This record gives sequence, structure tokens and C-alpha cells, in this order.
Amino acid sequence: MANFVLGKVKGISIELHPTFLLLIIAIFGFLLVFDAKSLASTMLLLAFLFISVLLHELSHSLVALSKGFKIKSITLLPIGGVAQAEELPEKPKDELLIAIAGPFFNFAMVFGILAIGYALIPQAKLLPSLELLQNPDNLGLLIEKFPLFALLWVNLLLGSFNLFVPALPMDGGRVLRSLLAFRMPFEKATGIATKISSFIALIMAIFGILSGDFWLILIAAFVWIGAMSEMQSVSIKQTLRPVHFEKIISQKPKAFSGLLNLEDAFEKMQEKNQVESLVELEKGFGFVSIELMSSVKRASWFETRLSDIAVKIPAVLASTPADKILQTMNQSGIPFIELVKNHEFAGIVSEKDLTKLYRLQKAENAP
Ligand code: ZN
Repeated sequence: MANFVLGKVKGISIELHPTFLLLIIAIFGFLLVFDAKSLASTMLLLAFLFISVLLHELSHSLVALSKGFKIKSITLLPIGGVAQAEELPEKPKDELLIAIAGPFFNFAMVFGILAIGYALIPQAKLLPSLELLQNPDNLGLLIEKFPLFALLWVNLLLGSFNLFVPALPMDGGRVLRSLLAFRMPFEKATGIATKISSFIALIMAIFGILSGDFWLILIAAFVWIGAMSEMQSVSIKQTLRPVHFEKIISQKPKAFSGLLNLEDAFEKMQEKNQVESLVELEKGFGFVSIELMSSVKRASWFETRLSDIAVKIPAVLASTPADKILQTMNQSGIPFIELVKNHEFAGIVSEKDLTKLYRLQKAENAP
């Protein structure tokens, strides 16, 4: 299921993950049927959660932008958000500042609300009295009666959960990694942070199973997958960066002629068990996949040429490091890159060859 796009802020696309939407609909439906009384207050709480997660992520992103990183999108999940950066910070100082910006915003909200409620306009009684606060049994009631207190509560939980659980990919994990990276190489720091993260995920999962807490199990899975993919992407980066990849560049890559019609191209692809191909265009190379071809009605396959539908493949300078090339491929979704040297075609690199090179290099680097 695709993300639901809400809008754009400073060039960053703000998106809602389907699970967030489903959660809101599910809770709405459940309460409507079983507990209509608390519908309004719960929806308000969800709205506060949504706004707080959004501003938390924006705080990360604005600090990242100010450090020169490009942010493509922010995806909002019920337990937090994920900012899609084109590149992750590797300088420990940058990562530390970006990581604490989100929770810092939440804590600033908490202090702001406390200041307004108790110091600036106490006569408005926006927050529960201190005597009421001392009785924790009333928490649900307090949240219902004092909306501002609910906003405070959401931000306190969000800020604490993200900052004080030292597990990647959460902010606490990033803080941990950046602190480690002040004293050791980035990949080693990530390795240690990943081990700690997996351990925390395991503990969370065990607690979740023992207590039957579905959310805790879900978060444990989120942490586990996030930490592993973090390790993987750092490892790819560090392994591929210094690699010389001249030997996998092909000056005359296997490609279909752009003049070929879709029907003939499909036949050839079936013969070779192929699902995608380079296409030789008048200038440079393009890319077609079975999916792209299927977007054209079958009846028009005879009169459609590959050059009509081929997507131009991205071009980068031949001096670009291999890890950046793989990153460009991942971002564009096109598994080929054209290399350019002195404004002229220098060759094509494919994702398959690059991944093979990564595995070879990885084996060579192994202790
Ligand atoms: Zn965060």
C-alpha cells in the first residue's frame, strides 16, 4: 500500500503511512460501536499524536537541511516518523545534532505547556492541579478533562521513547552511534549500536510476548528490521566506497534496439527469461521493464517501439564512488547507471554487477 501524501514543507514531501491511517480508522470504528463516550477525547489524542510526530520529524529535517543534507520525504508512523534523506550524516557531530532535534522539540513543548499552565496563566486552569496529578489512577480522566495536559503527555512520551531507548533506528540509537563514532570509525560504531539494538529488540519482544502487549512486539520488530537495514547500508557504503569498479563497466552493454516493437521485444525476453533490459536510444541508453511494457495496452504492442516507452537511465561522472552509484540506483529504481567522462559516454554499470562486486569485496575484507 502506498503512502498517503499530505503536502510539502520546504521541498520535503509529508506522507502518512497506511498503518497510521488504518489505526485511526480502526480506533474510530471500535469506539463508535463500543465506547462512543470517549470517542471525541481519543480522536483528540490521536490528533495531538499526529501533530507532535509531524513537528518532531520536521525538527530533525530542518536541522538536517541546515547541515546541507537533502530530505526527500517524511513518513509518519503511529510510533514516530521516518525521514528519507538522500544521504545520512556520517560526521558524529551532525548526526548527534540531527538526532536530538526531534526529542528536543517534544521536551520544549512539555516545558512550554508547563510554563503556560502553571506560571503564565494559572488562573485559566488549563492543567490539572498538583494534587490531582499526584493520583496516577486518574490519568485517563485528566487527559480527557485537560486537553493541554494530553498534548503535554503525548510529547513527554514521544520525546522520552525516542531519545531514551538507545536502539537504532530510533533517535536514542543514533545518539548512541554518534557518541561511539567520536572515538572509533563509523562502521564499527554502527556495528556496536546494531548489537545493542538487537538486544533491546529481543528484550522488548520477550516482554511483549509475556505480557501479551501487541504494540511492544510490533515496536521490537520495527527496531530489529531498522537496525539490520542500518547495518547493511553502512556496510555497503564503507565496503564499496574505495572499490575500483573499472572492470565491471561495459562500453558495449547488451541492449535491445530502440526500434524494436514491444511484441518482438517481449518474445525475446521470454526466450531469455529476462524481465528488464537496456535499450539503445538515438542518444545514450534507456531502460525498460516488463512492468513498463505492461502499462501499454497489449493491442498497441506492435506499433509501439521500445524507444517510445524507455526511461532514460541516470548519468553520473565516471569518478563517482561506487557506493554513491548504488545509492542513485536505489533512488531512481533503475538498475543501470551511465557513466560520463569529459562530457562523453564512458560506459554502463549495472546493479547486478555492482552487488557481485560488493560481495567479493566483503569477502576480501573479512578478518
Ligand atoms: Zn526522531
